[in-house]
Amino acid sequence: MYKIESKIKYAEGLYGIWVDAQYVAEKVEPGQFVMVMTHEKGERIPLTIADYDRSGKKIFLVFLVAGKSTAQLADMNEGDELFSLVGPLGKQSEIENYGRVVCVGGGTGIAAIHPIARSLKEAGNEVISIIGAKNKGLIFMEEDIRKVSDKVIVTTDDGSYGRKGFVTDALKDLLDNDEEEDIARVWAVGPAIMMKNVALLTRGYNVKTIVSLNAIMVDATGMCGTCRVTVGEETKLTCVDGPEFDGHLVDWSEFMNRLMRYKPQEKIAMDLYMKRRQ
Ligand SMILES: Cc1cc2nc3c(=O)[nH]c(=O)nc-3n(C[C@H](O)[C@H](O)[C@H](O)COP(=O)(O)OP(=O)(O)OC[C@H]3O[C@@H](n4cnc5c(N)ncnc54)[C@H](O)[C@@H]3O)c2cc1C
Repeated sequence: MYKIESKIKYAEGLYGIWVDAQYVAEKVEPGQFVMVMTHEKGERIPLTIADYDRSGKKIFLVFLVAGKSTAQLADMNEGDELFSLVGPLGKQSEIENYGRVVCVGGGTGIAAIHPIARSLKEAGNEVISIIGAKNKGLIFMEEDIRKVSDKVIVTTDDGSYGRKGFVTDALKDLLDNDEEEDIARVWAVGPAIMMKNVALLTRGYNVKTIVSLNAIMVDATGMCGTCRVTVGEETKLTCVDGPEFDGHLVDWSEFMNRLMRYKPQEKIAMDLYMKRRQ
């Protein structure tokens, strides 16, 4: 169960794994995630399902090494089995035929935006995708995104590939040139600061924007409250009410502060793990 069937190294610290997970593959819908434990005493970490093969009974996860648990996952190889994998969790994306939509993926968010763009395309939307990363080496799944989009714009912060700048620069140009005002909806998945900036930008153009919040999660079934966020002055749980919310209603400062809460402990855990690994 939960055998890693294949592992792709996209860049240092950035990996994709196809995992044997029959029941998740049968049920998963775009926007959903799984909770993964690498070993019995490991932490439960949420990862978005980037792709799935229902007949092959497997799902694809992409992760960036952010600390101890993702480092432990990166140390696993083809043939190894994850201790547990629970899902699909969270609400699925609201897919309809909106007309013209823009899907923005930044960093590992490129993976998460992929099944959303694919479903939007299948529902008849014109899909424009903007994918961005720090540099060329961190752009991945570009071909997959191209297959499910009518147009793709790639941005890199350093200009080593595609357009130089942030995804928000490319999005601003699209919105400024949208004379018919027919961009009906924007999806944005990526680092908190990117999603916040996308939401601040689109608010000025009155274009509804859906973000997928990567709040710190523990049980992911609505019981612990760790992943609570304020959306439109209501308290919501990212795990069961989200992870997708209206980006114009999210209390971004509270959300970003909560992401930083355990930094000292996370650093100690990572340092100890790296020491033991040597
Ligand atoms: C719904 C959801 C989907 C996600 N999808 C992906 C994905 O597809 N790919 C990916 O690379 N990352 C994803 N993340 C973030 C990923 O879960 C964290 O990077 C991971 O848990 C970090 O664990 P760590 O022990 O390696 O790092 P740590 O050193 O523990 O933490 C590093 C940083 O990661 C975040 N983090 C830590 N623990 C958790 C936790 N239990 N839950 C959420 N965030 C945490 C915090 O911001 C923290 O500062 C997702 C998060 C959520 C909530």
